[in-house]
Amino acid sequence: MTVGPVIRTQVGIVAAGPAGLMLSHLLARVGIDSVAVDLRSRREIEETRRAGILEQGSVELLVESGVSDRVLRDGHEHAGIGLAFGGGSHRIDFHGLAGAATQLYPQTGVFIDLADARKRDGGDVRFGVRDVEVVDFTSDSRRCSARKCGGP
Ligand SMILES: Cc1cc2nc3c(=O)[nH]c(=O)nc-3n(C[C@H](O)[C@H](O)[C@H](O)COP(=O)(O)OP(=O)(O)OC[C@H]3O[C@@H](n4cnc5c(N)ncnc54)[C@H](O)[C@@H]3O)c2cc1C
Repeated sequence: MTVGPVIRTQVGIVAAGPAGLMLSHLLARVGIDSVAVDLRSRREIEETRRAGILEQGSVELLVESGVSDRVLRDGHEHAGIGLAFGGGSHRIDFHGLAGAATQLYPQTGVFIDLADARKRDGGDVRFGVRDVEVVDFTSDSRRCSARKCGGP
């Protein structure tokens, strides 16, 4: 069996969706190295339609961590909904009730923004790997193994 290169890092992140990339991004901001691996290619993740509504806490995290250019420019604030019942329409005002609003912005946009930020900052993110395995998780020799797709 051919053994590929061994990469030493402080944190191994299995999955590079929005959560994995955000973790990698936040760790880098406090000087902690990480390697993130994902089974899917970057294109596959970009093309998977999912969330469209971001809660205020998510938007705040993007702003605080410097990845909010597009969410603030292209997103739309969603400050409430209307419910129709009892012969009338009733406005549910998020600002009035919770002092917060949600933001309409696709999760694929969040993924792209974080993946671009990781690339720009020299982050180590490996898409399209297979056979990801975490070994000896509780020992000092914990490691994560993965194979590149199409490789041996
Ligand atoms: C149809 C739909 C609509 C949604 N709408 C909303 C919404 O409006 N608002 C909202 O807040 N949330 C919404 N959600 C939920 C939101 O999409 C998830 O909370 C979000 O995707 C979680 O991000 P994540 O990074 O944790 O996980 P994911 O986006 O699922 O990413 C996990 C990654 O892990 C990778 N992976 C899995 N197994 C392995 C492995 N063994 N090794 C390596 N990589 C692996 C996968 O390829 C994937 O890229 C919606 C979800 C769906 C499905």
